[in-house]
Amino acid sequence: MTQVYNFSSGPAMLPVEVLRRAEQELTNWHGLGTSVMEISHRSKEFIQVAEEAEKDFRDLLKIPANYKVLFCHGGARAQFAAIPGNLLGAAKSADYIDGGYWAHSAIKEAEKYCSPNTIDVKTTRDGKRAILPMREWQLSNDAAYVHFCPNETIDGIAIDEQPDFGDKVVVADYSSTILSRPIDVSRYGVIYAGAQKNIGPAGLTLVIVREDLLGKAHSYVPSILDYKVLAENDSMFNTPPTFAWYLSGLVFKWLKEKGGVADMDKQNQAKADLLYGVIDRSDFYRNDVAAENRSRMNVPFQLADAALDKVFLEESLKAGLHALKGHRVVGGMRASIYNAMPLEGVKALTDFMVDFERRHG
Ligand code: PLP
Repeated sequence: MTQVYNFSSGPAMLPVEVLRRAEQELTNWHGLGTSVMEISHRSKEFIQVAEEAEKDFRDLLKIPANYKVLFCHGGARAQFAAIPGNLLGAAKSADYIDGGYWAHSAIKEAEKYCSPNTIDVKTTRDGKRAILPMREWQLSNDAAYVHFCPNETIDGIAIDEQPDFGDKVVVADYSSTILSRPIDVSRYGVIYAGAQKNIGPAGLTLVIVREDLLGKAHSYVPSILDYKVLAENDSMFNTPPTFAWYLSGLVFKWLKEKGGVADMDKQNQAKADLLYGVIDRSDFYRNDVAAENRSRMNVPFQLADAALDKVFLEESLKAGLHALKGHRVVGGMRASIYNAMPLEGVKALTDFMVDFERRHG
């Protein structure tokens, strides 16, 4: 069988070593004669899985002790509602940075609960799409928090600058870039991320929340989205997505063995440099994001001749390069190259691209 590399934006490729281990353990986990997904979340065996996963996640991101880690249901979109519900308090508004599709989606959801102060930070630099530097963001004084999305999965735009807004509560949707590089968690009030890109299977969302922000949920907030309720119940107020939690725990162990987030950072840079290098050296391919705001996780690119898109997708699929079709709102191609994508996968893609250009250019 041809080696397959899956460039899906999510659910995305998982480390093959993790999948093999899960496969081996599937029907007889820890000698129990049953699968981990069939045991009670309250059993001592599962509690150990849960605690180890949290510890490894904390180690990887160096999460300070005054932050809770919550393992939630509902995807990142549930957090679009949970954030205003938990953080607005008596405030009527929050600052929302609009840098792309997902940041905008969070604003649309927040409009149900408050009057978000939308700050459009999209700009152009040398004719390419870019984001204003943080010092130019016009934050308001009475906002309960400021929300932004550091990696726009669809637009392929990243905000790598780390926030430094004094005592403002900063909230970030890290869904498509968590664990891809070290970050200073103490600069944030809340970080959240759907698991299905850099963490594990869909169905799990991780929330990192500073303890002093707990206990402010509005009465309309469903208990399963109330951070205080979740924290007090060790994320087991209702039955958690146990299999996703277990598998994410294996991914955290894999990450630690690979040298942790600092090492991932280097590998992600090398992968992105390789792919953007091939795009930039050719007139056949194009990426229209300014260098400082290019995502290292999601690389959208266009063929100069869009009539070749279909052939590109057919041939790449045959070559074992899966899911390269761009999002419907952007078109063209998109290669998502999260932590689990090895450098060889990106090399296989760039070799294919160079060869495709030679044959069709
Ligand atoms: N935020 C970002 C940055 C995303 O990439 C996505 C999904 O791709 C979402 C939010 C929505 O996530 P979910 O489908 O888990 O609700």
